[in-house]
Amino acid sequence: MNKFLNLHTHHLTNCPHTHEVYQLSLTEKIEPLPSYFSYGIHPWEVGNHNFNKFSTQLKKYSPNPGFVGLGEIGLDKTCDKDFNLQRDVFKKQISLAIELDISVIILHCVRSYQECIQDLKKLNYTGNIVIHGYRSNAKVYQQFCRHFSTYISLSADALNTTKMLTLIKEVPLNKIFLETDNSIETDIEENYKALSKILNLDLQTIKKTLETNFTKLRNS
Ligand SMILES: [Zn+2]
Repeated sequence: MNKFLNLHTHHLTNCPHTHEVYQLSLTEKIEPLPSYFSYGIHPWEVGNHNFNKFSTQLKKYSPNPGFVGLGEIGLDKTCDKDFNLQRDVFKKQISLAIELDISVIILHCVRSYQECIQDLKKLNYTGNIVIHGYRSNAKVYQQFCRHFSTYISLSADALNTTKMLTLIKEVPLNKIFLETDNSIETDIEENYKALSKILNLDLQTIKKTLETNFTKLRNS
């Protein structure tokens, strides 16, 4: 029996049928660490934390077998943080990923897709990217694919929009993940059911493919 995989969540449910990649917040101390987790400076949090402290902590976390990737990091034009500062912190984190040989970046990107591509390219990042909470079109996804091994992760609101239907059908299933992000009402199983309906594929196939995607992501 394959489990449901929640690629990005801020709330652990510890449900036995689910693998959850928990977004560890910057100052949070959890013992023991969750089975899977990501760690990074969110664009909404730039300037709130000492970068050297963060970097020391990341160096401790990244060798942990549960560490999935650096994230969520990125750029967000709709938040009130200075965009130049966001870019500065984003670039510093990409450099850290390269230095520490971190092969997965979980990307938070709002109205800044071109800038994200530019910065990742400029610094020669060669690992995987998971664009979480993806809400753009297939064209933008393909632009990322031209330069990077790119996955998208979809939340419930994306799965319920007609605008996103075309995108979902254009992106191969072996490049898709599902997530609940910050929502406490959404059950990841509902997202699987929604995707199964959109693609007209049985739940088992979706579960199996997404689990394989996760294994591939972790091993590349
Ligand atoms: Zn998030």
